[in-house]
Amino acid sequence: MRASRSCREDPEIYRKVKEAVGMRRTAERYGIRVDKKGWCVCPFHQDRHPSMKLFPDGRGYYCFTCGAGGDQITFVARYLGVSNSSAARELARVFGVPLTEPATYREKREAELSRRKRRNVAEFARRSKLWLGLYRGLLCEARRDLEDPHFLEGIHRLEYVEYLLDLVERSPEEVYGNREAVRKIGEIERRAAGWYSRPGEDGAVSG
Ligand SMILES: [Zn+2]
Repeated sequence: MRASRSCREDPEIYRKVKEAVGMRRTAERYGIRVDKKGWCVCPFHQDRHPSMKLFPDGRGYYCFTCGAGGDQITFVARYLGVSNSSAARELARVFGVPLTEPATYREKREAELSRRKRRNVAEFARRSKLWLGLYRGLLCEARRDLEDPHFLEGIHRLEYVEYLLDLVERSPEEVYGNREAVRKIGEIERRAAGWYSRPGEDGAVSG
């Protein structure tokens, strides 16, 4: 039963919510009637007589019939059928527990920025590999044939392109952060895209 243990994501938020809102207040907020000793009808099985006990001092809840147990957050998660993380935020919202202090806000912002950067790097690597791979194929083809108008290009540039490709495979972040490399890859992309539309030996121009 995964939801019965408290959670490792957002430990700061869980701590704040659990400190601010006790087990009894949580259960009562969701319509559970709790007697003086902390017993209530279990909402997680067809319970007629109270078989769930809510413990004081942050010790959570336990149903002696169906075995459901956990803390405030997992209770709400299970009750509403949402993730622990959503449950924690829901509790914070309902009881007005402040979660965003300046530091937290900055951390969030930084996390968002680094997420965005990871996405950009991944997209850059995907695109670079595609075009470098394509260009490599074109060069390989050209250098097989002395008559090919791109023969010399094939001879001169293949090694370089393989080097770049290898670099993008191994450390895409470094390449992404290197302006010169990004510019070169951009050039190669345009070169490969225009491969067949350049003036040929017969002077024909297309595109
Ligand atoms: Zn139960």
